[in-house]
Amino acid sequence: MSQVKTDKSKKSIEATKLVYPMVKEYYAEANKVVQDHSKKLCYVTGAGLVDLCWVYDNVLPLFPENFNAACAAKQMTPPLLEIAEGAGYARELCGYFRNHTGYLLEGKDKEDVTYPGGGLPIPDFLIADSGSCYFHLKWWRETERILGYKVPCYLIDVPYIAPRMTLDELEAHYLDYTVKQIKGALEFIGRITGRELDKDRLREVVRLSGEASALFEEMQNLRKAVPSPMGSEDALSCLMPLVQWAGTQQAVDFARALRDEVKARVDAGKGVLQGKEEKLRLLFDNIPPWYTLGFFNYLHKFNAVSVIESYTYYFHYSRGRMDPDKPYESLARKYLYGCWFMTSVRETVHSLIAKKAIDYKVDGIISYALYGCKIATGFLPYQAKIMQEQYGIPTLLLEGDMVDPRDYADGPVKNRVDAFMEMLLERKKQKS
Ligand code: SF4
Repeated sequence: MSQVKTDKSKKSIEATKLVYPMVKEYYAEANKVVQDHSKKLCYVTGAGLVDLCWVYDNVLPLFPENFNAACAAKQMTPPLLEIAEGAGYARELCGYFRNHTGYLLEGKDKEDVTYPGGGLPIPDFLIADSGSCYFHLKWWRETERILGYKVPCYLIDVPYIAPRMTLDELEAHYLDYTVKQIKGALEFIGRITGRELDKDRLREVVRLSGEASALFEEMQNLRKAVPSPMGSEDALSCLMPLVQWAGTQQAVDFARALRDEVKARVDAGKGVLQGKEEKLRLLFDNIPPWYTLGFFNYLHKFNAVSVIESYTYYFHYSRGRMDPDKPYESLARKYLYGCWFMTSVRETVHSLIAKKAIDYKVDGIISYALYGCKIATGFLPYQAKIMQEQYGIPTLLLEGDMVDPRDYADGPVKNRVDAFMEMLLERKKQKS
């Protein structure tokens, strides 16, 4: 089996260092639940319907995507990917899907491997939505098939937003349609868990979900400071609590601790480069290579910091806009946003990326084109052209996968980064 070693990241934020222990503890809790049957386990999709699960205190939601990222960070994915490919799944399919499928097929039964927290247990039910990615629906169906159709599956169809609408001016029937699906999912969970829907609890979950998002948004805004208080090597690792625990006090507490720490760094003028001059600021676009987050530390060699990401922005849309008095509508807007960001009106997303680049005083963009993720990749060359021609911001387009290090060529990637950094430094010198 292949074993590929890549660079691990070095973190500078204390809150980030808590994330991996929390991940391990969470999986350990899930494995305990398998033994004591105290809760029902549910697989949910990234940026999907986790809030709905937290409404029921006897449900523990699990994210296969997060598990895949954790496996990648621990350099454990190649054997799992090879199991999936050996079973006939094409290497061009989503890396998250392949890793999870390899795990379900054989990987979970390997006695000589210790997965984070003891591994991802088999769930009692499945929920997916098409909001963030239409491939999720196929993935969850395939999981249902692999598990022998013994685990019920509920799929939510979130409509694509037509270009004639904006997120703030949605036609009512789009919201109504999504609200109906959310109500259907809550009924489905109620049937599985044997619990009535507690509407006060639903409102509380929506409130907490909005509060965590608002704190994360505040922290993101603090990152506009020069020097940058937190680079992508930290920020990307901080997503898990925000995504997996959206709707819980735990997510709010983590987001607050993170916001406070980043604020303290800004107030003290403390930057990622620890006193060295910050010469270049970058925006990282798309899902990162989780197996080599040390990529971001490598940029420091050029006194460059990746100061913001498109990916972290994606997960805190609600930014305090979730209204506990309108819980269904708030959740519907949140899921419709996922659909908008990933699939609908690309020009609007290009303007959003450009706005981020300008607000964060970015000198260049690094876009990561993922072989297996067509949905978040196909438009990247066009986006690079727009950034250059309309906004004068150069883009380096790298290629690889988020969990499959076999397609990542560390040497050539660093050569291209070196050339891009030198070009940006020269360009900046000439401008000044
Ligand atoms: S968005 Fe891309 S990476 Fe995520 S599940 Fe869909 S295809 Fe896979």
